[in-house]
This record gives sequence, structure tokens and C-alpha cells, in this order.
Amino acid sequence: MRFDGKVALVTGASRGIGRAIALALAREGANVIVNYSKDDAKAREVVDSAKSLGSRAIMVRADVSNPMQIEEMERVVREEFGRLDILVNSAGITFRRPLEEVPYEEWRRVMEVNLNGAFYVMRTFFKLMADSGGGSIINIASVAGYIPMVGSGAYSPSKAGLIMLTELAAAEWAEYGIRVNAVCPGPIETDMLREEFTEEQLEIRKRLIPLGRLGRTDDVVKLVLFLASEDSSYITGESFIVDGGMAVSYYLLMEKLFKMGKKILEQP
Ligand code: NAP
Repeated sequence: MRFDGKVALVTGASRGIGRAIALALAREGANVIVNYSKDDAKAREVVDSAKSLGSRAIMVRADVSNPMQIEEMERVVREEFGRLDILVNSAGITFRRPLEEVPYEEWRRVMEVNLNGAFYVMRTFFKLMADSGGGSIINIASVAGYIPMVGSGAYSPSKAGLIMLTELAAAEWAEYGIRVNAVCPGPIETDMLREEFTEEQLEIRKRLIPLGRLGRTDDVVKLVLFLASEDSSYITGESFIVDGGMAVSYYLLMEKLFKMGKKILEQP
């Protein structure tokens, strides 16, 4: 199997995209570390599923925004496995609010988890990964790191920062055999999306996506596995959008709006 004998840490792996990535890596032979911050029961379910796939899986509760907890997680991984080959930074949060109403504390929290958290984890695990002969880091950013996602406060800035962090680390760590890439999903059907938007809003979004559907965790997983594997051994510092064509649909949306134009012009 593709990842036989490899050790993979996935942050934010108790639910959603991180969970799907952890299980896919386990299915292909990796021993996985399931990181999460709150929900022990959900993390345990992921570990049990990974074990049933033959993975030597463990769960580690650690808030990625807390460097001391990350250091403790590194100690556990070092003790349990003695190496790290694949690191996927998937832990992330978002809030919906107009920019002028975003409380400073909420802004700081989103930056802490989405951007600083990824940095703390990368920095803390750098040595173990370098000592393992290198590896692959995949940061789950967002298409919102390229296109300002209105009403989501610090989310877009945090993901834009994560894309640049990816490029910086790729340049600095290539000499250690560590590749660093980012995956930038559009709307993917997970708790995060369902908490952010109503059913009606999701239906509208779905209809505006050129490929005609919301993304599934599997759409992200396939790319992550490619970036984690030797198949991408000459690729580093890149960011890949997985959004059903959403990011390139500006003029397509214009065309649709032109057709609805009369209604819009009727509005004050
Ligand atoms: P989700 O369903 O809300 O799951 C979030 C995961 O992150 C959970 O396992 C959660 O565990 C964990 N987590 C949250 N805060 C954490 C922290 N401080 N430390 C450690 N773990 C933490 O989210 P998702 O939709 O799978 O999103 C995963 C990633 O993809 C995020 O970075 C998100 O920004 C990005 N993304 C998602 C979409 C989308 O449409 N879903 C689109 C673009 C990008 P606990 O519950 O235990 O805290």
C-alpha cells in the first residue's frame, strides 16, 4: 500500500475533512495520529475505525493554538512512533459576522487556530520530520485565501496567510527533504459548512457552482493523498484549489445576473 510504514499526523481529525483524510491514510497503510481539541468521543470513533483498517492509530487531544500542548503532542508522537512522514494541518474555525462588528477576541482566535496554529505545529514537528529523512506537509487552506469571503471576518486573511506560510516553509525546508503544499477547498459538506449557512443558502450556492454540486470530503482527500505520496515528489510550495470551478466563475455569475438583471434594476 502507498503509505505502508509511514506515520501521519492530521490535526482537526475528529470530524469533517480531517477525519476523512486520517481514515484514507489509514486505509492506505499509514499509522495515524488523530488530533482534536474537544470531542473525545468523535476522536475515539475515528481511531477505532482507523484501527479496524489495520492502522496503529492513536488520538491526541491538543489545541493547535497552544504551543505547550503541541510540544506535549510531539513528545507523544516521538515516544510512540519515533518518526513523522506526513503532516496535515486541517484544524480550522470560522465565524460569520460583518468586518466592522468582529470582536478583537474573535479575530485573534481565528488567526490563532487557522494560521498561528498551523505554524506552531509545523515548527514543533520540523525536527522530527527532518530526522525522519523528510516528508510531506499539507495545509488545508481555502479558496477564501484567494477570494475575500465577505462576512467571515479573519477567515480569509488567516487562509491567505496560510498559503504564504506554505510557500515560505517550502522554500526553507526543501533542503531537509520536506515538501509543503496547500489544498484550498471551496464549499465542502461538513459541520463547518452546515453551521455557517442555512439549507436554502447552501442550495443557492450549489446552483452557482459551475460543476453543479457542493464538494465532498473525498474531493479533498484524493488530492491530499497525491500530495502526501511519492507521486508528487517534485511538487512543493504550491496551492491547489478544489472548488468545482467556483473561483473562476465571476463572468459566469455576471451572465446569470444579466439574465436576472431586470429584477435587480427594479430594486431601490
Ligand atoms: P469541521 O467539520 O468544523 O471540523 C473541524 C475539526 O477541527 C474538528 O475535528 C475539530 O475538533 C478540530 N479543531 C477545531 N479547532 C481546533 C483546535 N484549536 N485544535 C485542534 N483541533 C481543532 O471543519 P471542516 O469543514 O472539516 O474543515 C477542516 C479544514 O478545512 C479547516 O481548516 C477549514 O477552514 C478548511 N476548509 C473547509 C471548508 C468547508 O467548506 N468545509 C472549505 C474550505 C476550507 P474538535 O471538535 O474536537 O475541536
